Amino acid sequence: MMRSFFIYLSKAGWAQRTISGLGLARRAARRFFAGDTPAEAVLAVRQLNERGILATLDHLGENTSTREEATQATGDILVVLDEIERSGVQSNVSIKLSQIGLLLDPELCRANLVKILERAREQNNFVRIDMEDSSLTPVTVEMFEEMHARGLDNCGIVIQSYLYRSDNDIANLVEHGMRVRLVKGAYKEMLFAGSKAAGCPTVSADGRVPPIPAIATHDEKRIEFAERKAAEIGLPKHALEFQMLYGIRRDLQEQLVAKGYPVRVYVPYGEHWYPYYMRRLAERPANVWFIVSNLLKD
Ligand SMILES: Cc1cc2nc3c(=O)[nH]c(=O)nc-3n(C[C@H](O)[C@H](O)[C@H](O)COP(=O)(O)OP(=O)(O)OC[C@H]3O[C@@H](n4cnc5c(N)ncnc54)[C@H](O)[C@@H]3O)c2cc1C
Repeated sequence: MMRSFFIYLSKAGWAQRTISGLGLARRAARRFFAGDTPAEAVLAVRQLNERGILATLDHLGENTSTREEATQATGDILVVLDEIERSGVQSNVSIKLSQIGLLLDPELCRANLVKILERAREQNNFVRIDMEDSSLTPVTVEMFEEMHARGLDNCGIVIQSYLYRSDNDIANLVEHGMRVRLVKGAYKEMLFAGSKAAGCPTVSADGRVPPIPAIATHDEKRIEFAERKAAEIGLPKHALEFQMLYGIRRDLQEQLVAKGYPVRVYVPYGEHWYPYYMRRLAERPANVWFIVSNLLKD
């Protein structure tokens, strides 16, 4: 029930206007995002890199409602790619198609996506296309496959394993050696076997291009399961990547690095932190007590 409530709050305009204006809410949310500007984001990535952790930068924003906003969001993503290139940090980027115009006009979104992938390709960088609401899954997968067909193969996708269609999606994607970030699920064996069949590509030396399977979770049981299965299948540690969110389970991130796995942290930044933060509260309502206890301390 709490989960649905926070998901509702993440979408309600009135709640966004009220809550995002509260200094306390911003301070509490700050644990989960790296700041407002690309410079702050790059600084956070540099600190992660110093701890042996790779990153993927997400300029927060989704469901843009005008063409101008979609163009602006595309420009912001190009800026962060340039900033990664300039600073030399070990990071790629994560984007959402609704951020660059999917809900307004698929043609506009397609053109923006091509622009982003071309810029990333010039810089030997990689773009992960996040997965959104299940209503957008079919079009997201189609657009992703279309980019590969055009030769823009420096992108990967996210599969949410709780969807019925994910089984088939993973089978199709790994057959073509495409890079998949798996969130919440039990399809790891298929992903690992697909990577083995593709010759176990490892994370690139500059840390930008991930291996085929990326397991994105903070759930220790799922991580242990993934480690066990990878060992059984004979997948080298560098042919699999664990991914976690900024501000969550730092201890686990470091343990996995110490074991020799690539670990990538998803680092969101920007002014539009509100829906992202509400989704984090929905996952773990206990975080609300963290805010309340801070409120009592103030
Ligand atoms: C790198 C990355 C990228 C992602 N990309 C997408 C995407 O594109 N599309 C999509 O739908 N979803 C995405 N997700 C979210 C994912 O689907 C889950 O909602 C999220 O990871 C929580 O699930 P979990 O597997 O960590 O397990 P859970 O069972 O939710 O959590 C396991 C443990 O992790 C810790 N934990 C988890 N969440 C929190 C939190 N908010 N605050 C504090 N501790 C917490 C707790 O210790 C908890 O017991 C992404 C997640 C990661 C890590």
